[in-house]
Amino acid sequence: MECKTKENREAVDVEPHPSTSTTTVGEHSLGIESDTNTEEESSQKSSSEDENGKSTLFDPTDWPDMLTSSLKETIVLKGLAKPKGHFAFPKDASKRRFTSTHYRRRLGNGEVHVRKWLSYSPRLDKIFCFCCKLFTTTKISLTTGGYNDWKNLSQCLATHEVSHLTAMGNWTQLLTRLGSGSTIDHSYQRLLATETQHWQNVLQRLVAIVQYLGKQCLAFRGSSDTLYSENNGNYLKLVEIMATFDSVMQSHLKKIQNSEIHQHYLGKDIQNELIDLISKEIRRRILRLLKDAKYYSIILDCTPDITLVEQMTMVFRFVSVKQGDSPIANPEIHAEERFLGFLTVHNSSGEGLTEAILNELEMLKIPLSDMRGQGYDNGSNMKGKHSGVQKRIMDLNSRAFYVPRSAHSLNLVVHDAAMCCRDASTFFGILQKIYVFFFYQVQQIDGI
Ligand SMILES: [Zn+2]
Repeated sequence: MECKTKENREAVDVEPHPSTSTTTVGEHSLGIESDTNTEEESSQKSSSEDENGKSTLFDPTDWPDMLTSSLKETIVLKGLAKPKGHFAFPKDASKRRFTSTHYRRRLGNGEVHVRKWLSYSPRLDKIFCFCCKLFTTTKISLTTGGYNDWKNLSQCLATHEVSHLTAMGNWTQLLTRLGSGSTIDHSYQRLLATETQHWQNVLQRLVAIVQYLGKQCLAFRGSSDTLYSENNGNYLKLVEIMATFDSVMQSHLKKIQNSEIHQHYLGKDIQNELIDLISKEIRRRILRLLKDAKYYSIILDCTPDITLVEQMTMVFRFVSVKQGDSPIANPEIHAEERFLGFLTVHNSSGEGLTEAILNELEMLKIPLSDMRGQGYDNGSNMKGKHSGVQKRIMDLNSRAFYVPRSAHSLNLVVHDAAMCCRDASTFFGILQKIYVFFFYQVQQIDGI
């Protein structure tokens, strides 16, 4: 990730020189030390050229543009360079400079972690990311010409080090394979595990929020997508409330507010993705129950949505049998009625609806031969004796008995009863006309 250039007055032009660096090997004047070599070795290779005038490859500026696998292995084995001792880092025009304090990072729990990936080139007075330069093709200053915006350095380091875990993993793996990675491997495996655990904790909380809003049928988004703003919706408001009491979410929001991370998993796209993933899992479990039960009935109904596109509900009824905890315990038997979604229907004739149903059953891999019941309303396209859906399905599976939906039948009874009364007939007639008038007005306004 490219480093941001936001104002950040903390950091760079601050002494003193750290004497506690865990990787300091000796006090060679202007020497170069390697993280993976011994003191003796590093003192022998303390400049950018060896005794034969060949590049030592300690400085990333010595690396060729195209790195072969064998050259990468050589570079990884040599390790990266750090000026050591009391190296006088040069100041830039604004009297700022890189200092050795930036080789260390203080974690949220107070633990100090050494930035082993950070490579400083004395020749250019610029820093590089050792692992990203070796293992990624990302074109950022830390991997190409070097970074020397000392004013914004702390911000840059904090942003970058949470974005290059893959490159860190590749570096560690290669070093482990080469048989010399005990120190760095352990250190970065721990860092990797900490970051992984953090993101798992955050995602667990976000999934719980999505499940809660879904169960309660509450809207996710408001008019704003910004944290701690008015009307930013139930999702972000729950995140904010959680952060009041929960340290994981508190730390996550703090990182977002300090611009330390930019992938925060709070945007509308991740909300939709989480909803989609959860809905797929729910469908998968319902289908598993249904297939365990084998025999089923379907209940279908159609209604136009706000854009006047016909939508058909898919509801399955089946009997689920759950075995008790002990072999002699009676099994639990439930009549399940599960909604699996809406089907868009372009042809609402008996033939079109039958085709839509059969296609959906085939897609869900539910055999038509296991159907034992059909429940529809009393529309002629559904219940029709000659070309209705029920007849067409009965022709394919004679055991799928059709039962008119009792709620709809009752509705028809109430309708006919109301029509006998003149006042009721007038009242419901006017009500119907008002509904139709406003419904189509809304459609026309939307169309405009
Ligand atoms: Zn990096």
